[in-house]
Amino acid sequence: MSKKHLDKIVSLCKRKGFVFPNSEIYGGLKASYDYGPLGVDLKKAISEKWWEAMTRNFSNIVGLDSSIMVHPDVWEASGHVANFNDPMTDNKDNKKRYRVDDLLLQQKSKVIDALCNMMSIENTNDNDTIDKISSTLLNDTDKYNDALESAGVIDPFSGNIGKWTQATQFNLMFKTNAGPSEKTGKSIYLRPETAQGIYINYLLVQNSMRLKVPFGIAQIGKAFRNEIIARNFIFRTREFEQMEMQYFVHPSEDESSMKFWKEQRIDFYSSELGINKENLKFHQHSEDSLAHYAKDAFDIEYNFPFGWGEVEGIHNRTDFDLKEHEKLSGKNMMYFDAIKNEKYHPYIIETSTGLNRLFLMVLCEAYHEDTENSRIVLKLPFDLAPNKIVVCPLLKKDGLPEKAQEIFNIVSSEHKCVYDEQGSIGKRYYRQDEAGTPFGITIDHETLDNNTVTIRERDSMEQHRISLDKILEFVSNNK
Ligand code: ATP
Repeated sequence: MSKKHLDKIVSLCKRKGFVFPNSEIYGGLKASYDYGPLGVDLKKAISEKWWEAMTRNFSNIVGLDSSIMVHPDVWEASGHVANFNDPMTDNKDNKKRYRVDDLLLQQKSKVIDALCNMMSIENTNDNDTIDKISSTLLNDTDKYNDALESAGVIDPFSGNIGKWTQATQFNLMFKTNAGPSEKTGKSIYLRPETAQGIYINYLLVQNSMRLKVPFGIAQIGKAFRNEIIARNFIFRTREFEQMEMQYFVHPSEDESSMKFWKEQRIDFYSSELGINKENLKFHQHSEDSLAHYAKDAFDIEYNFPFGWGEVEGIHNRTDFDLKEHEKLSGKNMMYFDAIKNEKYHPYIIETSTGLNRLFLMVLCEAYHEDTENSRIVLKLPFDLAPNKIVVCPLLKKDGLPEKAQEIFNIVSSEHKCVYDEQGSIGKRYYRQDEAGTPFGITIDHETLDNNTVTIRERDSMEQHRISLDKILEFVSNNK
């Protein structure tokens, strides 16, 4: 799948009511999107799959819904105020701004070679090399302030070698004020991750649910990051939804737990979201590129039309966060194991994914151009499809719409259905193929005679004549 396919997916999303650009009547707000009628249902279906995989499949994992806004000290303790930065540079000529690592990813190998030579970094041709160059630029700003320019780093916008400003750190948290006056109100942040809401509540959750280590707390909610460059449609936006599960384990169990969750999570994508395993891989972070809190980290990456991109991070956050909250708040954050009479700070294995990225991944995986039949078909798994069945009277007369409505009422008691009587039957089917609707039912004159309908399958386009009372059975056997 090429980058061209992403443009086609973006256009399909708008046409079919999955995703709209935000504030379009005012010229749009960059990297902000609204989810339309089909998008809401698809997003909900994905998040329900995740919630089920976490809280229903594991009796020791419970839910939480914490606030977006928390005490500002939370972000001091977590290290986000000091460390949640991305490296940034501007082209002095055209004032275009870039995230340094993103910019380097788009350079020719000879440019990367030149930077590696300058900085005595081994070029391993992967993201770690880019991370090492970025951090060297930031740590040694005086020494390397013109490195990007002298290595010939091209501005992807102009196609010319840029005149680059010194790389600087940019904090990704959105700051705002609580209270009526900017002067007296307290500065607060919109949360850049949902995890901290879990950490500050973990003992309340543990006590109220009488949980014993190991246990997990799962949460779905909005997070905000003032990304330097937001791009690739809904892949990177400034407002997004995270689905995070924090698993509290004994410090001696961290590595086995990490291994367990890596396997669980990659299997989830193939078994629950219908992603081909060949389009998924792990990427382990090198020591240099680990986040400030992490001992070990793996990303699960998906083969997007624009290249491999992270969909989930699985991190061993150790006891870093709990200890830091204990230091700053002065409150004991230790877990007490009454059976072993042992007090300790549990280690935390985090699985953190973005709902919007999963949404994009599911769409990319489902998108097919069926050139033989001149149609676009979204091969969404049945459980994820916003509508499961389209019900169509062949004609808008002869009592067919009334019969179709009757059938609609029966099937929609079990599945989300859509009713369509506009245009030729072929066009109606093709409209639903693009929306990912797995089955189509047509009501014709024969239906009035013998109570049979035609049922059509989206992917194979095969049609079957079945009796009315067998529709639900057919759907459940063939979904
Ligand atoms: P990236 O390297 O892509 O910026 P990250 O390593 O900072 O991501 P994490 O902090 O590990 O990401 O966040 C966990 C998950 O949250 C990511 O795997 C991704 O699915 C999602 N996510 C993070 N930032 C964004 C964003 N700006 N827009 C959409 N989803 C995001």
